[in-house]
Amino acid sequence: MNHTYDIIITGARAAGASLAVLLGRMGKRVLLVDKADFPSDTLSTHFMSHTRFLEELGILQPLEETGLRKVTRMRTYIGQSFMEGPRPAYTIIPKRDVLDAMLIEQAEALDTVTFMPRTSARGLMKEGGRVIGLHLETEGRACTAYSEWVAGADGKNSNIAAWAGAQKYRETKPLRPVLYGYYTGVEPLREPVTEIFLHEGRIGFVFPMEKNRDCLGIEIHPEEFASMMKAPKDTFEQTFNQFYGMKQRLKQASLQGKIIGTPGMPNFFRNAYGEGWVLLGDAGHSKDPSTGLGINDAFLQSFLLADAFQQMDEGVDWKTALDRFQKQRDEQLLPGFQLTLDYIHSLRKWTSNEMALFQTIAANPMAWNKLMPHLGRHLKEDTKDFPLFYQSVEWEASSFGFRKD
Ligand SMILES: Cc1cc2nc3c(=O)[nH]c(=O)nc-3n(C[C@H](O)[C@H](O)[C@H](O)COP(=O)(O)OP(=O)(O)OC[C@H]3O[C@@H](n4cnc5c(N)ncnc54)[C@H](O)[C@@H]3O)c2cc1C
Repeated sequence: MNHTYDIIITGARAAGASLAVLLGRMGKRVLLVDKADFPSDTLSTHFMSHTRFLEELGILQPLEETGLRKVTRMRTYIGQSFMEGPRPAYTIIPKRDVLDAMLIEQAEALDTVTFMPRTSARGLMKEGGRVIGLHLETEGRACTAYSEWVAGADGKNSNIAAWAGAQKYRETKPLRPVLYGYYTGVEPLREPVTEIFLHEGRIGFVFPMEKNRDCLGIEIHPEEFASMMKAPKDTFEQTFNQFYGMKQRLKQASLQGKIIGTPGMPNFFRNAYGEGWVLLGDAGHSKDPSTGLGINDAFLQSFLLADAFQQMDEGVDWKTALDRFQKQRDEQLLPGFQLTLDYIHSLRKWTSNEMALFQTIAANPMAWNKLMPHLGRHLKEDTKDFPLFYQSVEWEASSFGFRKD
């Protein structure tokens, strides 16, 4: 094989397949490769509170038609109490085998996109310091493909990044292990609600997917991971049974498949480009999944990168266009990164006094009557070492009509 492409994209999931759609629409000759076969799952839950990119990629409607519930509310539990409210936008929880396959289908429908599953990138081809293509292995056979650009959308342990020597910055090691699984038969709430349990310094979550299927997960303490993974189903369900109401609600529930666990996601940004190569998705930026932003962030990077290619077509030199891409990526993703790290760093087991007071206050309208007028001020003062937090609350509140004085 000795083809010439405008771009070879390694990795055909959220980042790579969406970029293939966008560049394919621009008429670019795209080779999209992935070592995996599709449809297939990947290590990821799939809470998505933004749907705009899915719509622009042309898959929102077919995705929703697979039976996904539109989740409009979120509930946070502390002990035996909870707070619940509407979200600025609805959430969907599409399983990755379905989501990624739909993206690939969109890409493959374009005349200029070629997709090769079961094909691994094995090394960069270079000429005079510039990347000019990829060594590939497809179903046991070695081959090469030449291209103007090589994109690494090959996940957090990106080979393309390693071969290109892309440096990491703002790096923090993985913070929390995650265990998750798919359950049928969980006793449902009256309407679908994203449920978050802040319990003993852990985060539990129930993501309602389709009718009668939920994704359940927990972010645990690092020292718990090894022992929990010795008997993942039992320890997972024992932990979940401690969350308010879940023992009863899980009585008729059964696990589909197995409990999946990871010791955690690395947190970093990587330099996004060099001569002939560019990174996107988790390859360029990865973080703890507790805030459920990774898939949308991967789409955002694809859209920014497609813009950069558009600029190059209009005569902007590649360094200027890709430098803008990296700056925009960092500006737009840094707040979510910082909020995620702050969330995880500040998680802890509540003291017994904190718990007792919260139980009382949560159920006491007189206490709320006194607290309400000052709630915003208290939150602002208590987080003044990290102003971004309060700014993000105000920003979200603006979608419910909040106006600054
Ligand atoms: C436990 C967990 C829970 C998560 N929960 C959420 C959530 O609820 N919501 C959310 O938005 N995000 C979540 N995320 C984050 C989300 O999964 C990632 O941000 C997202 O998958 C990134 O997409 P990507 O396309 O960049 O990379 P990936 O999805 O990692 O895809 C990379 C692809 O590259 C391929 N590849 C790798 N190397 C090669 C090679 N050498 N040759 C060919 N192909 C290669 C792989 O086969 C893979 O298909 C979670 C992550 C984890 C780990």
